[in-house]
Amino acid sequence: MSHKTLGLSESLSSYIQSISVQESEVLVKLREETAKLPGAVMQIAPEQGQLMSLLVQLLGAKKTLDIGVFTGYSSLVVALAMPEDGRIVACDRDENCTAIASRYWQEAGVSQKIDLHLAPALETLDKLIAQGQANSFDFAFIDADKRNYDNYYEKCLQLVRPGGLIAIDNVLWSGRVADPSYSDKRTISIREFNQKLYQDPRVKISLIPIADGLTLALKL
Ligand code: CA
Repeated sequence: MSHKTLGLSESLSSYIQSISVQESEVLVKLREETAKLPGAVMQIAPEQGQLMSLLVQLLGAKKTLDIGVFTGYSSLVVALAMPEDGRIVACDRDENCTAIASRYWQEAGVSQKIDLHLAPALETLDKLIAQGQANSFDFAFIDADKRNYDNYYEKCLQLVRPGGLIAIDNVLWSGRVADPSYSDKRTISIREFNQKLYQDPRVKISLIPIADGLTLALKL
C-alpha cells in the first residue's frame, strides 16, 4: 500500500504536490500527526483528498458515506467541501484512530457534519438500508478491509442515488494487482473486484492512477 502516487519519481511527485496541493492548515496538521503512527500509509495522499473534495463539490454532495475512517482525513476533506447542511455517515470500528479523527473534526469546526458509527461497516450500511435510506447518498468512499470490498460496494450501490459516485481506494494495491507472483487473499480480492467493476453494467467507471489507485464508479 502506498500513500504516494505509484510509479512517479520523487522529484515529479514533489513537483505535483508543490504546484497543485492546496491543503488547509488543519489537514496538514492531521497528516503530520498521522505520519507518526504505525499505520501511516493508510492515510490518503493530499492530492487524492483534493480530487475527492473537487468531486464532492461537482456533485453538489450533501450526504456521503466514509467507509474506513482511520484518523479522519477523508471525512475531514469531504466535510470541508460540503455546505453547512452536508452530512457524512462515517464507519469504522477502531476507537483509538477515530478519537484522533474526532479531535480534528472538532478543531476544523465540521464535527456537526459527521456522524461516526463505531461498528463493523457492513452492519451500519445494512441499518441504513433497513431505515429506507437507499438511493439517498450522493457520494461514498470505500477504504476499509480489502476482503470486504465487494460487500461494501454492493451496499453502496444500494445507498447511492443514480448519478451519485462511489470512489474505491487502493485498487492498484502497490502494483501487486498486475504482478502474478502475488496470490495472497487481499491481492486476489482486489484483482477480482477490479475485474467485476470492469464488467458491471450498473456503473460507469474510471480508474485514476493517483496514489495507490482510485476507481470512480458513477451509478447509472
Ligand atoms: Ca487507503
